[in-house]
Amino acid sequence: MLSRRSWLIIALLALVVFIAWPGRLLYINYLTQAEAARIAAITPADVASTIPERLNIERLMADVTWLADAEREGRLQGSNGGIAARNYIAQRFHELGLEPAGTEGYFHPFTTSVTDNAANVVGIVPGTRPNLRTLVLTAHYDHLGVRDGDIYHGADDNASGVAAILEIARFLQQYPNQHPIMIIALDSEERGIQGSRALFSTGFLAPETIAFNLNLDMLSRDTEQLLYAVGTYHRPWLTPLVRRVQLESGAKLLMAHDRPRRKAGNTPDWTTASDHVAFHEQNIPFLYLGVADHNDYHRPTDTADRVDIEFFRATSETALSFVLLIDQVLAEKARD
Ligand SMILES: [Zn+2]
Repeated sequence: MLSRRSWLIIALLALVVFIAWPGRLLYINYLTQAEAARIAAITPADVASTIPERLNIERLMADVTWLADAEREGRLQGSNGGIAARNYIAQRFHELGLEPAGTEGYFHPFTTSVTDNAANVVGIVPGTRPNLRTLVLTAHYDHLGVRDGDIYHGADDNASGVAAILEIARFLQQYPNQHPIMIIALDSEERGIQGSRALFSTGFLAPETIAFNLNLDMLSRDTEQLLYAVGTYHRPWLTPLVRRVQLESGAKLLMAHDRPRRKAGNTPDWTTASDHVAFHEQNIPFLYLGVADHNDYHRPTDTADRVDIEFFRATSETALSFVLLIDQVLAEKARD
C-alpha cells in the first residue's frame, strides 16, 4: 500500500503535468507564430528590377524536359530511366568540357538498400588557385519512378536543379573561378538521402578538402515567387551574402526552415530535407536553395510544362550569383 504521502506526491505530479502540457502546446504554438512573423518581416518588398542574363533558359528547359520525359520513367535509382538520366548527364558534362572526377570516369558507383546499381555523376571545373579547397555544387537527379502505373516525372523535383548545375557549369567554364568547383548530380536522394552520404561513407570525398556545399533541389515554380535559402541559422556569416545576392535576384529569398523546434515551433526544419545534410553531418558549411512544396510535389503531375520559366531563370541566376560570391569571399580569406 502506498502511504498517504506518496499519494499526495503522485497527485501533485499529475497536477503539474495537467497544467504544464497545455502550456507546452501553447508555447509551441507561440514559437510557430513568432517564426511566421519573423519570416514575414524578412520578405523583401520587391525583387531586383533587372537580373543578370548569364544563363540560357532554352538550355535549362531542354535539360528539364529531357530528364522529366515519360521515357525516363521517373528516374528511380537503379532503373533503366535512372541509368539513362545518369548517362545523359555524363554526356552533358563531357560536352561542357568538365574534367571527369568520379571513380570510373564521371561516375561514382555505390550500392544502396534498394539497388546495387546507383551512381553519382561527378565533374570538376578547375580553379585559378588549385590549392584552395573545393566548392561542391549538388543536385539530385533521381526521383520516384513508376507507382501503380503512374509515372512520377519529377520536373521540379529535381530535373530543375540538375539543369541549373549543368548551365552554371557551362558559365563557370567560360569565366574561371578561384576554387576548384566540383559539380555533382546525385543519385538516390528520394529514398533516404543515400547518394550524398555515399560520397563520404565510401571514402570518395575527404571532408577536410571541401570548403562549401551549395545544394539545389526544386527551383522552378512557386506561386509567390519565393525561394528559400536554408542554412544561415547554422552559419550566420552567410546572412549578409544571401542579402547581397538578393540585390540582383528575381526571386524573393527567404532565410528560413533551418531553425530547431525550440526556436521555430512547428515550422519544418529542412536541415535534413535534402542532400546538403550529408555535408552538414561532416561539419561542412552549406546553403540549400529550394521552393516550398506545391500541389504537384511528389505527384505524377510534376511535369516540365508546369515549370514557371521566368521564375526558374531567376532562381538559376540566383544560384549562380551565390556561387560567384562564395568563391570570391572564401578565396579572400584563404591562403594557397
Ligand atoms: Zn528533391
